[in-house]
Amino acid sequence: MTGRVLAAGSEIDSMCTRCKAVYNHTIIAMVGGRVARVKCNTCGSEHNHRPEKPKEETRVRRTTSGVAQAPRPKLRKDAGDMDREEWERLFHTKDTGKAISYDMNGSFKVDDLVDHPVFGFGVVCSRQQGKIEVLFNVGRKLLRCK
Ligand SMILES: [Zn+2]
Repeated sequence: MTGRVLAAGSEIDSMCTRCKAVYNHTIIAMVGGRVARVKCNTCGSEHNHRPEKPKEETRVRRTTSGVAQAPRPKLRKDAGDMDREEWERLFHTKDTGKAISYDMNGSFKVDDLVDHPVFGFGVVCSRQQGKIEVLFNVGRKLLRCK
């Protein structure tokens, strides 16, 4: 707060619809502590007050529909997004001509490109006894192997 108390008769910077610029205006009416109507000191036209730099939040809260349409800020990426990005990054370094068709009797090593009948291409990211973890476009899958 600036400490300046606004009231009808006070001067305020407002966007003038006729001058199409921010000019000094005189407040005509206040509603709920906010400047509602102003009169342009330059051209004399009366109009609703438009603050110099309207704040998004304020405008959204004041919509008459009562429904805030502001887009929700994207939250942190979830694990699925990160897996997909990782998959894309890895996939572009691979030669699909060298992809190994997945077979549970097959033998795979970390970093191999696997061609799976259901999940498509995937990159082996870890290997355990009898299992490989493969990163596919759809996420990580544990597959059996030899
Ligand atoms: Zn004006």
